[in-house]
Amino acid sequence: MADIKELLEGFTEVADHPKAELDRHIAAGKKVIGVGPYYVLEELVYAAGAIPFGVWGRVGTASKAREYFPPFYCSICQMTLEMGLNHELDKLSGIMLTALCDTLRGASQNFRVGVTQVPMIFVTQPQNRATEAGRQYAIDSYTELKTTVGEACDTIIDDDKLAEAIKLYNNWRAAMRTFLAEAAKHPALVSVAQRAAVVDAGYYMDKAEHLKKVEALNELLAAQPASTDGFKKVVLSGVYYDIPALTQILDENHFAVVADDIAKESRALQLQVSEEGDPTVALAEAFCKAGNDSILFDENKGHVAHVADLYKESGADGVVLLLAKFCDPEEFDAPHVAKACKDAGAPFVQIEIDQSTESYEQARTQLETFADIIG
Ligand code: SF4
Repeated sequence: MADIKELLEGFTEVADHPKAELDRHIAAGKKVIGVGPYYVLEELVYAAGAIPFGVWGRVGTASKAREYFPPFYCSICQMTLEMGLNHELDKLSGIMLTALCDTLRGASQNFRVGVTQVPMIFVTQPQNRATEAGRQYAIDSYTELKTTVGEACDTIIDDDKLAEAIKLYNNWRAAMRTFLAEAAKHPALVSVAQRAAVVDAGYYMDKAEHLKKVEALNELLAAQPASTDGFKKVVLSGVYYDIPALTQILDENHFAVVADDIAKESRALQLQVSEEGDPTVALAEAFCKAGNDSILFDENKGHVAHVADLYKESGADGVVLLLAKFCDPEEFDAPHVAKACKDAGAPFVQIEIDQSTESYEQARTQLETFADIIG
């Protein structure tokens, strides 16, 4: 049986080389469907016998995409389009893009126009999710998507296969939540960079294969004594943090992520889909129940209090808000999150991040200072 180090190296290898993983799926005769952010119902893809493959931009500089976007567009959208325009996504049989923020709405349509070789499957979801009309809208949209995704994969998705996929994904999300909790207890064994790699590998690998490896890792971690001695315990908030220059700074300064409010991580992993009844309805209802996310409309702004609650419940020493540049939903919530953290007595730092940033020296200074304050 592989040990902790070997398993983490395996995840890092996949996370660092997504193209190799994509090629592996294609060589195995699988169709692959790209899935962008957020709450994309990957279960449909899996039920169609294809592999869902995460596409959340990548670290780099947009150049061709700048012809489609004004400069104040977030880097996830710019870099996703850049990847499409550079033919990095040509092996995909389609890409599912949502419109949960204004930026994504325009980005999805630019992708449709600019990257004609990769069919864009538009995922419409309601923002008013607490009403019966919103629930029905989600059900209608997901029912239509079941057909569209099936067509992209040259199949008809049947309910038994979809129910199987839902069960697998529920198990996977539960295992990932356990992993995040174990990683929080063992920062000397799982660095911040490795934590991000385990999550990222999950966006690229076959979920069944990833699940087995994560379960093996969880078992090994649980058998080790928990200790955060010598680490600065923080709650990470934001959309993503899988930028090598950033995780390196976090690791060099001995930060331990003891809880997160990251869209690519715990916000996405909160879903638990009912395994009873009509599986398409179950998927729609699970989305409607999701909360505590800047991108999901919530008149009570539960997301704001959630970050402060994570601080209190996790025993963290402080909160690090990684603010994605030009991200409206996060920027709207940021001052409220800062105030909620202040009211909770949480040391708080806000750092601007971007996939296209070339130097993280300013972030380094901020994080070093923050480490001194909470250390
Ligand atoms: S939520 Fe923010 S980071 Fe995500 S796509 Fe929208 S603007 Fe970009």
